[in-house]
Amino acid sequence: MPRKKLVAGNWKMNTTLPEAKALAEAVAKGVGTGPAADVVVCPPFPWLVPVSEVLKGSAVGLGAQDVHNEAKGAFTGEVSTGMLKEAGCKYVVIGHSERRHILGESDVTVHLKVHSAVEAGLTVILCVGETLVERERNLTERVFQRQVYSALAGLTDDQWHRVVIAYEPVWAIGTGKTATPEQAQQAHLFIRTKIRALHGENIAGSLPILYGGSVTPETAAGLFSQPDVDGGLVGGASLKADQFLAIVKAAG
Ligand code: PEP
Repeated sequence: MPRKKLVAGNWKMNTTLPEAKALAEAVAKGVGTGPAADVVVCPPFPWLVPVSEVLKGSAVGLGAQDVHNEAKGAFTGEVSTGMLKEAGCKYVVIGHSERRHILGESDVTVHLKVHSAVEAGLTVILCVGETLVERERNLTERVFQRQVYSALAGLTDDQWHRVVIAYEPVWAIGTGKTATPEQAQQAHLFIRTKIRALHGENIAGSLPILYGGSVTPETAAGLFSQPDVDGGLVGGASLKADQFLAIVKAAG
């Protein structure tokens, strides 16, 4: 069965409450009822509940940008999987490069978060990707193996079906430098081939692998036409409804 494409918007630490509600409303209206691709928006934590109310009855899913691995307790400032589910989330982004590289999140932390999220029934959008230095030193494939294996080790077959991987080269995020469709395809194929070797075709063949890194309406169609690129994780362009909707259209 062909994989359905997925386009997710990562709003990061942007939008006021009125902006968030207006953006969600415009995306829901633009996507309509039977989109060819799955569509998700990931607002900042405080806007999850109001945005979920705006999205009620629409075809747009709600995701969070992060989660803590513990269910509750003395973890000041953190948010649990149960809280995200009560807020209406079906998805959660884990291991975004801004968390790994700016906030020091380790592979071990990413592993714990991924396991808590899939156990709670959330779908994880796991971000992996190399820095420019790692690419220049030909370490890209080693970085994938480390980040992908460490995050996903020990999942059951059922849990694998709640995983989406987002290949996001760090040098392309927020920089305006998009990977070429060929670079993205090569990276996605490498990841899928390794997962196929370890876990078989049932898991590897149905695993959505998104590309992220300065996706725009101009670059989306070329990227999404690649056989192993199953959609996109979109930052900057997800903050403008017309741009995001044009990217969604390119996935349809
Ligand atoms: C992201 O934050 O995941 C991202 C890909 O950002 P941008 O599209 O702005 O590069």
